[in-house]
Amino acid sequence: MSVWSAIAITLVSVVGMEIFAWAIHKYVMHGAGWGWHESHHKETEGPFETNDLYAVCFSVIAAGLFIAGSLWSETLWFIALGLTIYGLLYAFVHDGLVHQRWPFFVKTRGRYMKRLVQAHRLHHAVHTRDGAVSFGFLWAEDVRKLKAKLKAGSTDRT
Ligand SMILES: [Zn+2]
Ligand SMILES: [Zn+2]
Repeated sequence: MSVWSAIAITLVSVVGMEIFAWAIHKYVMHGAGWGWHESHHKETEGPFETNDLYAVCFSVIAAGLFIAGSLWSETLWFIALGLTIYGLLYAFVHDGLVHQRWPFFVKTRGRYMKRLVQAHRLHHAVHTRDGAVSFGFLWAEDVRKLKAKLKAGSTDRT
């Protein structure tokens, strides 16, 4: 495989993961999988929350893909690499910048990063399964639009 194909597969896999994660967050975590995700929308004690099990699942899947990839397919191996890079970006942006779960302070710099953090804070404005906005982790809509959506949603519910 050429270097360019390898880079292309990895990048497509990172972008694909954001779309996949968005869908999982919206339809599974805020759906049938709410049981695990609820812990992330409530105050929890201790360094871990039940929601972290999702990250564990994804790590196991990535490890499996690396093994399968090295045995049978180079393409699969680079997909696994993309998945892992996505996981690291998620850990940096979501756990680091937004929730400050790292043992040291991570400062948010740049307009887009600030928008990303604000958008995810708006996701946490809702503590219930339904009515939340902004399900992406690396991509976020304009904050004003999200606020409008949130407002519209809350009047719908009452
Ligand atoms: Zn959520
Ligand atoms: Zn969060």
